[in-house]
Amino acid sequence: MEHPAKILVSACLLGQPVRYDGSTKTLAHTHLERWQKEGRIIALCPERAAGLPTPRPAAEIADRENGLAVLEGKGRVMDNTGADVTAAFVAGAQAALALAQANQCQFALLIDGSPSCGSLSVYDGSFTGHKHAGEGVTAALLRQHGVEVFAHTDIDALHTRLQASTLSGTEGP
Ligand code: SF4
Repeated sequence: MEHPAKILVSACLLGQPVRYDGSTKTLAHTHLERWQKEGRIIALCPERAAGLPTPRPAAEIADRENGLAVLEGKGRVMDNTGADVTAAFVAGAQAALALAQANQCQFALLIDGSPSCGSLSVYDGSFTGHKHAGEGVTAALLRQHGVEVFAHTDIDALHTRLQASTLSGTEGP
């Protein structure tokens, strides 16, 4: 029997209160509910996996950089107290990749805007609420290793992609 493709999902999208301020970003969506029933969902908060507490200071990728630059040692993640938390964010990305590979996740559904999970946009490092196009550290590392990352706002596109991959028989490793 064919096993359905597993999907790595940001824990805060699944109602876990792991965000920096202790809140959730629960995504109530029929696709997500069905994937959960099908046992496809692997939940993770990269920042918590790296040992950061909740609550924790808000953090952004500094200087309008993006997650790829952080992975290449050309960018930093700073929190709003001025602390450099780059190492923790890279460790969280590595934890996410290890979990994705252990569960053969070919896909990820991550909340956009986060310095870890953002896949379309991230805050610009000024802590003034401004975003720019880019991806977080976890999204960048997953993509580097072939995981197809979708923003939570693109859940319908992920659904379409899963259907196409099932039909073509290229759903997962
Ligand atoms: Fe949610 Fe990702 Fe931030 Fe964790 S690191 S709180 S999963 S957006």
